[in-house]
Amino acid sequence: MKPAPFRYARAGNLAEAVALLAAAPGDTKLLAGGQSLVPMLNMRLVRPAVLIDVNSVRELTGIAPTADGGLRIGALTRHAELTASPAVMERAPLLAEAARHVGHAAIRNQGTLGGSLAHADPAAELPAALLALDARVHVTGPRGAREIAADAFFLGLLTTALEADEILTAIEVPAQPPGWGFVEIARRPGDFALAGVAAVVHIGHPLTLPSLPRGGEGEVRVVGFGVGDHPLRLAGAERVLAGAPLDAGSAARAGAAAGPDCDPPSDVHGSAEYRRHLATVLTERALLQALARLRPGPR
Ligand SMILES: Cc1cc2nc3c(=O)[nH]c(=O)nc-3n(C[C@H](O)[C@H](O)[C@H](O)COP(=O)(O)OP(=O)(O)OC[C@H]3O[C@@H](n4cnc5c(N)ncnc54)[C@H](O)[C@@H]3O)c2cc1C
Repeated sequence: MKPAPFRYARAGNLAEAVALLAAAPGDTKLLAGGQSLVPMLNMRLVRPAVLIDVNSVRELTGIAPTADGGLRIGALTRHAELTASPAVMERAPLLAEAARHVGHAAIRNQGTLGGSLAHADPAAELPAALLALDARVHVTGPRGAREIAADAFFLGLLTTALEADEILTAIEVPAQPPGWGFVEIARRPGDFALAGVAAVVHIGHPLTLPSLPRGGEGEVRVVGFGVGDHPLRLAGAERVLAGAPLDAGSAARAGAAAGPDCDPPSDVHGSAEYRRHLATVLTERALLQALARLRPGPR
């Protein structure tokens, strides 16, 4: 099929994009990498009257270090840039790893971070990584700019806290702690994940082996994707690790506690029960990856 007719407009800068969008927000779509929008247009799942191409908007580009050791990443940053950027690999390696799992090279060359977050596919890697990293989402619109915590951004299936007249401009990630894990199961490399888990373990205080972090509340963030209608904090797993040392036993107990927080779909690729089982196994594996990264010594 081909898209229903639409009018095309190219925004030259952010103010122009905001003004174009404000003219008819309910009937307009922003075009970034087009890797989710164009298939939806072709299948006529969406029929906007106007498409605003934001690919020339310089204010949406760039990866810049922040003073707290984190990064500010423009919404137009391509998935392939995330995988290749030394700054991302150094300051947010979980995000680089998540981007490596998105689709195929052609998709990673076109698809953007902002597009992935705004589209909010429940099985997408980047939203889950940013939720695990406790990122902040910067948006702007006719009422000005605002920031939304990742915890408050993903609301449901393909639904976010972005208003129809707002543009996602950038993501800010804090300095990433050294303990992290990212795992997913897909039918083939490049497919959307059947289920996946991203985990970040903060070190609460100086450590001496063999004891590893005694986490306090909020020191471990475990996020599942493909296991609900949006990326989910797996609170049961996080509770197991709050105040407890991270070791192989607690990682397994956290995995077992992850299942009840999931509400996965059933489809031809796997039942809800299978996906819930994956969430338990992948939670344990992601935490074991984090543990391995926290232990000093050769890897
Ligand atoms: C074959 C195939 C396989 C794929 N596999 C994966 C996969 O394994 N994992 C995965 O996560 N994704 C996958 N994708 C999707 C891909 O990651 C997309 O790039 C991403 O979901 C959307 O980014 P985009 O820049 O292409 O956005 P677009 O398609 O241009 O836009 C998507 C939506 O976001 C809105 N939007 C875009 N930018 C902004 C902005 N700055 N502010 C507000 N709204 C905005 C658009 O209006 C639209 O509604 C796949 C896509 C294809 C075609």
